[in-house]
Amino acid sequence: MIALLLLTTALCGVPQDTLSPAARRILADVRFLAADSQEGRGVGTAGLQRAGAYIRDGLARAGLRVSFQDFTIPADAPAVLHTTLGGTPTRNVVAIIPGSARALRGEMVVIGAHYDHLGLGGFGALDPDSTGKVHNGADDNASGTAALLEIGRLLARRHPARTVVLVAFSGEELGTLGSSYFVHHSAPQPIDSLYAMLNLDMVGRLRNARLLALGAGTAREFPALLDSLNTPPRFDLRASGDGWGPSDHAVFFATRHPVLHFFTDLHEDYHRSTDDWDKLNVTGIAQVAQFVADLAWSLANRPGPLTFVDAPRPQATTGGSGYGAYLGTIPDLSGGGVSDGVRITGVRAGSPAEQAGLLAGDVITAIGNKHIGNLYDMTDALRSHQAGDTVVIVSTRDGVERRATTVLGKRP
Ligand SMILES: [Zn+2]
Repeated sequence: MIALLLLTTALCGVPQDTLSPAARRILADVRFLAADSQEGRGVGTAGLQRAGAYIRDGLARAGLRVSFQDFTIPADAPAVLHTTLGGTPTRNVVAIIPGSARALRGEMVVIGAHYDHLGLGGFGALDPDSTGKVHNGADDNASGTAALLEIGRLLARRHPARTVVLVAFSGEELGTLGSSYFVHHSAPQPIDSLYAMLNLDMVGRLRNARLLALGAGTAREFPALLDSLNTPPRFDLRASGDGWGPSDHAVFFATRHPVLHFFTDLHEDYHRSTDDWDKLNVTGIAQVAQFVADLAWSLANRPGPLTFVDAPRPQATTGGSGYGAYLGTIPDLSGGGVSDGVRITGVRAGSPAEQAGLLAGDVITAIGNKHIGNLYDMTDALRSHQAGDTVVIVSTRDGVERRATTVLGKRP
């Protein structure tokens, strides 16, 4: 019990005066960005406007040249089919550090983080029962936005050889709309001059020093470079993968340039109204910001080109908001310690899952004749069925296997 109490104190009760100056600045930023008064930073809200102005002011105070890039949410964006946001004006916030070397200043290193979130939930949220509550998005992505601001402070008034561009994107949660606008309409230099793009999306929950650097396979030089910069206090750095993924870096990767996505991994508050600032590891965000600033600096100054490595676009996998038949489970995205199967944290009222008697904590291991090892299997299984199909759901509860028959529904 004492150990538990100590642990709780260590995680939640960090007195402010034990934080580094950088961590204290980051704490102030995430508290502002993820405050209820920012309305969950939904596109079209005054809260998102205020967040954009806050980012502009923060970068300007650091000594950077900052501007807004205004755009409107396209009426044919897939997400807009579920919302009334088509035609809504919103903006990216952009700061430019001009390159100092004549031969290299025409190339750019882009550092980005989206600053929008889900507003009051609903579309894109994983807690349908909390629709109407402010979804503060402290980890997603006040954390990356705060890291971007800190990187701005670290790089301002320095003179990289290549041009460095910092961007806070809007419209990410509606389908990477701000980054698409940037890439196709408003990059300060032609997108073919992109040297590399570094994306910070969900960097606020550093646990056991484990940092994911996704996209490390998009340039041959990345693994060794990341390793050489990983100095004490070291990250348990997991560098791997191609440049596809559900965030802004994929838009840049699609233009065939190297990208990296920094990420401290999923957790049970992901896309739920419980993603709040008091659960963030601000010291961890400060460490990530320092690491990414060092990386950007070294990318902006290294003499040669990077060797781009392409990868085929994967089949669309959507963890839940996609097509296919409807079951109505709420999956535990943190995995819940399950290595085979999908653990659920609940079922939606009146859903086929409820009719099948599934409960929070159950682990689904098969749907119909398909084995379910993970969320992707589950998406595939539901896609292979239609509303009205009768299927057997196999699950385990407290180690005991259960089988139940249910009729799959139509997505609401
Ligand atoms: Zn998100």
